[in-house]
Amino acid sequence: MLIKTDAPVWVDISRCKACDICVSRCPAGVLAMAVEPRAVLGKTIEVVHPEACIGCRECELHCPDFAIYVAEKGFKFAKLTAESKERATAVKENKFEKLEAEQ
Ligand code: SF4
Ligand code: SF4
Repeated sequence: MLIKTDAPVWVDISRCKACDICVSRCPAGVLAMAVEPRAVLGKTIEVVHPEACIGCRECELHCPDFAIYVAEKGFKFAKLTAESKERATAVKENKFEKLEAEQ
């Protein structure tokens, strides 16, 4: 079920196949995979840092299952900060999984 909120980015979990592509494309460390035993692949996408989303749409454009959505223009997105870039790198180095400090 898709629940649209006033968040900058949100996911239709029922369509997500946990392929990691959106996490690999996100420059701001907004997204990460979380362990979810009930999911087919044992993990699921999570919007961990919505406040850091810069609205670049890289996730939405590259999701093969049209499972992730970014708010339309007019939404006030964050700027890409050094902290966000570092987090994005750390998540990628952590096999796209949520960082331990954020569990
Ligand atoms: S719009 Fe850009 S910054 Fe926001 S979650 Fe998607 S890839 Fe990350
Ligand atoms: S790219 Fe799409 S299908 Fe793949 S993990 Fe992200 S939301 Fe799920």
